[in-house]
Amino acid sequence: MSREIDPAKRESLSVARVVLTSLLFFLPACVAFGASDPTPKASPSRGFAEFVASLRPMAEALGVSRKTFDRAFAGVAFDPRVVAETKRQAEFTVPIWDYIAAAASPDRIARGRAKVAAVAPWLDRASRTYGVDPGVLVGVWGLETDYGAAGGTFDVVRSLASLAFVRYRDTFFRDELLAALVVLNAGAVAPRALVGSWAGATGQTQFMPSNVVSFAVDFDGDGRRDLWKSLPDVFASTANFLASSGWKAGLPWGFAIALPKGFVLADADSARPAPFAAFAARGVARADGRPFPAEGEARLFLPAGLRGPAFLVTANFDVIKTYNASTAYALAVALLGDAVVNSAPVPDSWPRTDGALSAAQVRALQTGLKAMGYDPGAIDGMIGDALRAAVRKYQEKNGLTPDGYADVALLNRIASGR
Ligand code: CA
Repeated sequence: MSREIDPAKRESLSVARVVLTSLLFFLPACVAFGASDPTPKASPSRGFAEFVASLRPMAEALGVSRKTFDRAFAGVAFDPRVVAETKRQAEFTVPIWDYIAAAASPDRIARGRAKVAAVAPWLDRASRTYGVDPGVLVGVWGLETDYGAAGGTFDVVRSLASLAFVRYRDTFFRDELLAALVVLNAGAVAPRALVGSWAGATGQTQFMPSNVVSFAVDFDGDGRRDLWKSLPDVFASTANFLASSGWKAGLPWGFAIALPKGFVLADADSARPAPFAAFAARGVARADGRPFPAEGEARLFLPAGLRGPAFLVTANFDVIKTYNASTAYALAVALLGDAVVNSAPVPDSWPRTDGALSAAQVRALQTGLKAMGYDPGAIDGMIGDALRAAVRKYQEKNGLTPDGYADVALLNRIASGR
């Protein structure tokens, strides 16, 4: 978790997740052995030891003791696996309904309820202290590490040092490595117990080390900020991170809605928020029959177009995306949490028979839209908000229902230049 991107914390859990991960983290992989050492490919080990030694003054300036530093790097060698991870290519895409079905499965919902029952007072207290929806805390916990069961097995110091050594993403991982040393220096976790994703996200809700330093909270009062073993600390730290990222207390992330018959959809419905009252006036209602919030605003979110489930989402939905920029991820967190904490049903009315576009087809769609002057974002084969917005604009301009959903028919139409 980082405010820009967390390039990793995703290698665990389901197949859907693994794939999504590689989709999400396809950063311009400026991976090069290189900037500092012209020939480390031949023998990274010597250069690696020199690199580690070069960090000592920086660590000392941050208050890291000599003993912490030596213990952190004892026996640590360069790990080529994490560099390989940065180059992994996405070969296919997962339809959002398959992603949601895996992320918020009946099994995971049931296990979440059992887990939460045991710690409900702490969850409630963390939620009230930071003003963050308890369902979202549980959703993040469930998706990030399957409620603590799958926090990753990579040695964080080794992974970060390897990524920093090859200067993947410039100095980002070096700085995270220094933050990890600060975390170790505090003593809540031992060096070899500091494990996580290949890119160094760690703890039960997968914080990058710099976020452990900035946002972790000792909520159970034992004197340690423990994101590995203390659930009170995990809930409070996650709530603190989300609150610091802009979560507005008292505002839901959103909810499933029912659109009235004959609802006339405009591109602006999804592009810009409007008051709940304005949606109510157009006959939009919550799917669960409860009233809208008295105040606040939201925008329409139709992840699979008008024939799939419809949602209103608020600014808090976007705050979930500070954890992971994927819209599908944010929706999965929200739906899993609501199912566990509020017994809400997971909407399932997806247009499954459509099939979903392959990565190559999405790329063709992006290329076609771009050639027509629309802005579909990067030509990367992934369906994201920029692509949905470009599709809606195309649909609106061409007299089609602007629901932002691209199926094969739409792709064919655009590919033929119409
Ligand atoms: Ca603690």
